[in-house]
Amino acid sequence: MMDGTLPNDIAKIVEADRAHVWHHLMQHKTFETGEPRIIVEGRGMRVWDQHGKEHIDGVSGGVWTVNVGYGRERIANAVRDQLIKLNYFAGSAGSIPGALFSEKLISKMPGMSRVYYTNSGSEANEKAFKMVRQIAHKRYGGKKYKILYRDRDYHGSTLGTMSCGGQDERNAQYGPFAPGFVRVPHCLEYRAQWDLTGEDYGIRAADAIEEVILAEGPDTVGALCLEPVTAGGGVITPPPGYWPRVQEICRKYDILLHIDEVVCGIGRTGTWFGYQHYGVEPDFVTMAKGVASGYAAIACCVTNEKVFDMFKEDMTDPLDYFRDISTFGGCTAGPAAALENMAIIEEEDLLANTVAMGDYMIDQLRALQDKHAVIGQVRGKGLFLGAELVADRSTKEPVPEKQAQAVVADCMAQGVVIGVTNRSIPGFNNTLCYSPALIATKSDIDQIVEATDKALTKVFG
Ligand code: PLP
Repeated sequence: MMDGTLPNDIAKIVEADRAHVWHHLMQHKTFETGEPRIIVEGRGMRVWDQHGKEHIDGVSGGVWTVNVGYGRERIANAVRDQLIKLNYFAGSAGSIPGALFSEKLISKMPGMSRVYYTNSGSEANEKAFKMVRQIAHKRYGGKKYKILYRDRDYHGSTLGTMSCGGQDERNAQYGPFAPGFVRVPHCLEYRAQWDLTGEDYGIRAADAIEEVILAEGPDTVGALCLEPVTAGGGVITPPPGYWPRVQEICRKYDILLHIDEVVCGIGRTGTWFGYQHYGVEPDFVTMAKGVASGYAAIACCVTNEKVFDMFKEDMTDPLDYFRDISTFGGCTAGPAAALENMAIIEEEDLLANTVAMGDYMIDQLRALQDKHAVIGQVRGKGLFLGAELVADRSTKEPVPEKQAQAVVADCMAQGVVIGVTNRSIPGFNNTLCYSPALIATKSDIDQIVEATDKALTKVFG
C-alpha cells in the first residue's frame, strides 16, 4: 500500500508543474483547461496521483517500461551502494557493474558478444546506425550505407531515428530528414496489402523487403532495422513465415539485421528478447525501457563479434575504431540497476509468469471482443497486447481518435491506466494498448479488462 502521505505543499507542486514543466505528448490547451497529472508514488502494479487516488498501471509506467513493478528497494539499494562507491567514469574505461551486467546480458543472447552502453532507446539505435555507416565506409567505399526500416515501426525521437521512422503522424512538421533511410511495407495481416493469409502472407510481406532491396540496389543497402513486434505502431505481431524469410533475405544480400528491442527486450513478450520467439540471429540488438525497469536510465546497443571485428581490421589506421561516445553511457547506476532487475526476473520466474498471464489476458481480451463489435482484432505476445478499435468490422474503418481517447480517459477515471497507439492516422487504426508489469496476477488483469469493458460500453454502447 501507499506508505507516505502527500506532501503538505502538494498544491504548490502542482502549480509549479503547470507553470514550468513541458509535458511529453500533451496538447498545451490541456494545461490551460485542466490540472496536470502528477504521479507521486508507486508500489508493485499500482501508482498514486496528487489526490492520493490509486491506479492500477496497465502499461508499466505509460510506455512499457517498469517491467518488475514499482518500489523495488533491492534495486534502489544496489544503485545507492554503487553511487557511493563510484557514480561515474567515462565509457572509455570499464566499471564493475558495467562488466557484470554485460556478462549476464550476453549469457541470455546466444550469438551476441558486445555491449555498447548509452542512455536512451533513440541513442542506442543511433549507435547502430552509425556503426552501419562506418562499416559502409570502411568496407564498401561508402556505398552500402542505406538502412531499411518498416512502415509503422518507431525507433526514436532524434532526427536520425525519425528518418528511420515508420509513423508519419509522428514525423509531420519535423522534416527534412536524413537521407539514406528507405521504407519497406508493414506486415500487419489485419490491414492486408496482399490477398493471402497466414504463412503465405508472412512470406509475401518479407518478400516485399527483397523487392525494395532490389529496387535500391543490394550493394547500397547496409542494414535492415525492425521491431520484433511493432509497439507504438499498433502492437503488430508478425505473421508466421515472416521472420525466417527476413533472415534469409538479409543473408542473401549481406545486409546486417538490426532488431530494435527497446520495448520487447528483457521479458516483455515472455522470452528475454522478442526475436527469440522467431529463431532469428541478429547482428545488432538495441534495448532500453525494461533494461532497468526505469530505476535508472540505461540503454544498450549489443552486437555480435562479426560487427565488433569489422572495427579492428586495420589496427595501424588511427581512425579505425568506433569514434563515438555517450557521456552518460558511463553512469554506473544503470548497469547496477539492470543487474538487480534481471536477478528479480530470474528469481521470481517472471518470464514464466509473463507467458501464463499473457495467455490469460489475451483470452480475456478476446472474450471482450465477442461482446464489443468495436474491437476488430486482439493481438500481441506475452504481456504486450493490443485491441484494435474499428467503427465497422467489415470495412475496418478506424474509430475516431476522440472515441479511443475517451475509452482511455474512462479507464483512468476508474483507476486503471491503459494506453492507445496510432493516434491521428487517417485510414489507419486506434489500438488500445496493454503492457502490465511482468508481476501481474489474474486479479490485476481482471481489473484492467473489466474497466475496459465498462469504458467500451460507456463510449460505444
Ligand atoms: N524504439 C522503440 C521500439 C520504441 O518504442 C522507443 C520509444 O518508445 C524507442 C526506440 C525510443 O526510445 P527512447 O524514448 O528511450 O529514446
